[in-house]
Amino acid sequence: MMERIFIPRLLKAPEQQEQFAFEENLADLETLTPVRGEMRVAHRQNYLEVVGTAETIVTLTCDRCLQNYNTRLRIQLTELLWLHQAEDATTLPSEREVNLDELEESLDPHGYFEPETWLYEQLCLEMPLRKVCDPNGCPGAEQPEEEMPTIDHRWAKLADLKEQLSS
Ligand SMILES: [Zn+2]
Repeated sequence: MMERIFIPRLLKAPEQQEQFAFEENLADLETLTPVRGEMRVAHRQNYLEVVGTAETIVTLTCDRCLQNYNTRLRIQLTELLWLHQAEDATTLPSEREVNLDELEESLDPHGYFEPETWLYEQLCLEMPLRKVCDPNGCPGAEQPEEEMPTIDHRWAKLADLKEQLSS
């Protein structure tokens, strides 16, 4: 378990930030190797700046041949988490130049930041949408409609139509 960070504590830390390395098995994510990386969490008055790198290996099931294969997941990103309590959701920072689009989530400034939850979410986002064991060598790869589904779908329709017209 990674230690959660009490947000007000950061204000008393040098440079209002904490930096740490980790090597953890996450409770909610099954990985072949522990998740290794580093994180820096900085208090910027109106928001938390989280900079993280992490790497692990997960076992996935190939969408094509249904075999298991291992793949490396890597994250390297910066996320800004807006600090506000639910009731002052309308107060926006005026002095700071912050791209509000980057402030995807918000946290209670008197609450906790949970590095493990954050890591879990980022790694889930990093999971490939299309799981293919080997783009060139997958034994299930001889299904052409897998390659360009939209176009092939249209061709299939056209072929149907031709067949209907000729019969
Ligand atoms: Zn495969």
